[in-house]
Amino acid sequence: MNKQKEAAEYTVSGHKLECPVCHHTKFTTRRTLMNTAGMTFLGIEWANREATNYICGKCGYVMWFMEP
Ligand SMILES: [Zn+2]
Repeated sequence: MNKQKEAAEYTVSGHKLECPVCHHTKFTTRRTLMNTAGMTFLGIEWANREATNYICGKCGYVMWFMEP
């Protein structure tokens, strides 16, 4: 539900998001949990944190952002 299919422009930390591959400026987004059993076992801090993926609407390149 509430799926976001339309590609849109986004700004990250005051910078307009642009695909590093094809320079397209419209992306779709999804949230991904950075969660693997191995990472949790090793005590890596960012395990179990959520990342935001921005997927280029033109070439499909995926950018990953973690909550600071
Ligand atoms: Zn692209």
